[in-house]
Amino acid sequence: MSSAKKILITGGAGFIGSHVVRRFVTKYPSYHIVNLDALTYAGNLDNLSDISGERNYTFIRGDIRDAKFIDQLFKDGGFSAVIHLAAESHVDRSIDMPNAFAETNVMGTLNLLNAARSYWTSNTEDHLFYHISTDEVYGSLGESGFFKETSAYHPNSPYSASKAASDHFVRAFGETYGLNYIISNCSNNYGPNQFPEKLIPLFINNIINQKELPVYGDGNNTRDWLYVVDHADAIDTIFHFAERNQTFNVGGNNEFRNIELVRLLCDLMDRKLEREPGNSQRLIRFVKDRPGHDFRYAIDANKLETKLNWRPGVNFKEGLSLTIDWYLKNTEWLKNVTSGAYLKFYTEMYEDR
Ligand code: NAD
Repeated sequence: MSSAKKILITGGAGFIGSHVVRRFVTKYPSYHIVNLDALTYAGNLDNLSDISGERNYTFIRGDIRDAKFIDQLFKDGGFSAVIHLAAESHVDRSIDMPNAFAETNVMGTLNLLNAARSYWTSNTEDHLFYHISTDEVYGSLGESGFFKETSAYHPNSPYSASKAASDHFVRAFGETYGLNYIISNCSNNYGPNQFPEKLIPLFINNIINQKELPVYGDGNNTRDWLYVVDHADAIDTIFHFAERNQTFNVGGNNEFRNIELVRLLCDLMDRKLEREPGNSQRLIRFVKDRPGHDFRYAIDANKLETKLNWRPGVNFKEGLSLTIDWYLKNTEWLKNVTSGAYLKFYTEMYEDR
């Protein structure tokens, strides 16, 4: 690919997207990064305040559900590549409003694909549609085994069903129209700037405020965790070096049962907040399990390791400690995002049950 690139990153004001935008803007001054984000409840330009004035960065507020707008954006844009992260991303919300997930995650992705297909007519090998997806498309594992790139799709929540559908559309555009694509399916991310509806920042916030810690079911559900900066690093590596029209699993090789993770978090927080040992664990409360709650996700990231020599750089305890420090330092950010609409959602989700 040529070095003068104009890259569209969608969802760049969100959690993972903001880390990807920062990485590309700062590491590749010869690229121009256009961040397209609708700024839903999960999008926050404060996540990018440190780079917002950079010459190679532009923010556009816009909605991927708006096909006309997306078509015009591509017509005028001259993008050589898209890194597509914009999505409705919270499983709990998808249970209450599945249509919103189909509209953004499926139709929004389709709008981007149609526009790419329309305007990327020459030098197709210079173009790339890189779709960021989740390991949740594979469904649930038992006590053993790992998801491979060849595992069958078996989504169980409206969120994972919408991501699975979007993955299929991306691959189908590759097969049918010759669009260059890559899909990566990653495990659970954690780190700075994650909206506190997701487990780790939700519990950090609750521990700070001495609120209960609602753990679904018996707490034995198991997830693999990856530090968000490592995910941005993997995306960078895959974007630049992976063979086109391939899928890559990205994982942290770091499985935890939810309850083990919550206990570890409680102990770390007690130490950092200089509270009595055991203080935060007293806040744990087991609540009715989520419908369709997948038991275990675990990633086999061997393809990424062997083909691109990529491995995560941050170990889990270090990443968790960095994450807690970030939330303790950014109480204003936390206060801003947990006010208003979010509080209503949280009360309905956890406190009224
Ligand atoms: P997020 O909810 O923090 O951010 C999503 C961003 O997309 C927000 O900035 C939001 O404003 C924007 N957005 C939502 N709807 C939009 C629309 N219609 N038009 C334009 N922008 C819109 O999500 P995240 O956790 O950063 O996840 C980013 C991507 O990575 C998603 O595609 C998600 O499926 C995938 N992913 C997430 C994880 C994880 O653990 N968080 C793991 C694997 C894959």
